[in-house]
Amino acid sequence: MLYIFGHKIPDSDSIISAIAMSYLKNKLGVESTATRQGDINPESKFVLEKFNLETPKLKTNFANEDVYLTDFSDISQAPDDIKDATIIGIVDHHKLGDITTSTPLECWIRPVGCTNTIIKEMFDYYKINIPKNIAGAMLCAILSDTVIFKSPTCTELDIEIAKDLAKIAGIEDYMNIGLEMFKVKSAVDGTPARELAMRDYKQFAMGDIKVGIGQLEVVDLSIFDNIKQDLLNEIAKIKEENELDTVLLLLTDIMKMGSEVLIASKHMDILQKAFDVEIVDNKFWLDGCLSRKKQIVPVLEPAFS
Ligand code: MG
Ligand code: MG
Ligand code: MG
Repeated sequence: MLYIFGHKIPDSDSIISAIAMSYLKNKLGVESTATRQGDINPESKFVLEKFNLETPKLKTNFANEDVYLTDFSDISQAPDDIKDATIIGIVDHHKLGDITTSTPLECWIRPVGCTNTIIKEMFDYYKINIPKNIAGAMLCAILSDTVIFKSPTCTELDIEIAKDLAKIAGIEDYMNIGLEMFKVKSAVDGTPARELAMRDYKQFAMGDIKVGIGQLEVVDLSIFDNIKQDLLNEIAKIKEENELDTVLLLLTDIMKMGSEVLIASKHMDILQKAFDVEIVDNKFWLDGCLSRKKQIVPVLEPAFS
C-alpha cells in the first residue's frame, strides 16, 4: 500500500492533493490511499462536504511503509518516523526542504501557487480524466492557496488550471466559491485562541534557530479586535513550550491585502531590521503581505542564519 499525505497541521491543499494523487495512482495501477497527519480545519471540512468526498484517515506512523509526500518537503513538517519510510515521490510547490532519500524517487516540484495545480498537470500527462467532484475540490485548493488569485505566489498557470477544473466540475461562478470558503475561514467566534494560533501553523529551522509561523486569512481583521491580546499570550506560550526563538502569527486581511504580524520573540531587533518596521506592543502591519512562504520566510531566513 502506498500512503499519500500532506504536511503536519494539514490545510486544504494538503488534504485535497492527497485525495487527488491517490485517485491518480490507483488509476495508474498503484494501490494507494490518502491519509492526513492531523485534524481537518473548518475550510477543508467545508470543501470535503461540498464535494461529497471522504475525509482521509488520520495516520502518523510510517515505518517500513511506502509514502508519497504532497505539499511539503521539510523534515519539520513530516511524520516523526519519516526516515524509516520509503519515499516513492514528492509533489510540492514550496522551497526545496531537507528531506533526503536512499532510493530514487519521482519529484514534481514547481514554483506555482498550489500543489493541486501540479497534480492537474500530472493527470494531463498520464491522460487520466479527473472526476467532477475531485476537480471541484482541487479548484477550491487553488483558490485557497492563492487567496483567490491575489497572492504573489499565484501564477498564470494556476489561473488557467483553475478555469479548466471549474469547467470539469461544472462550476460557473468559481470566484464566489472562493469567497464562500474564506467566509468559512473567517468564522473565528468562540474558537479558543490556542486553536486559532495553531490552525495554520508551521515550524521552520533557520540556521540554528527554530521559528514558528502561523497564519489566519480572513475577510475582515476587525474580528480579531477583542482576542488579539489572547492570541499574543498564546504565541508566547507556544514559543516557550516548544523552545522556539520566535513565533509569528500573521493576521491576513484578504480584502485590504496586508497582514498584521503578532510577535513573540527574543530577537525583536532582528525582526525590526529584517522587515524595516517599528514594532509596537509586539505587533506591526505589513502592507501587501499575503504569503508566508514568499513574503515572510525568505526575509527571516537570511536574518536568522
Ligand atoms: Mg499547504
Ligand atoms: Mg500548498
Ligand atoms: Mg495557505
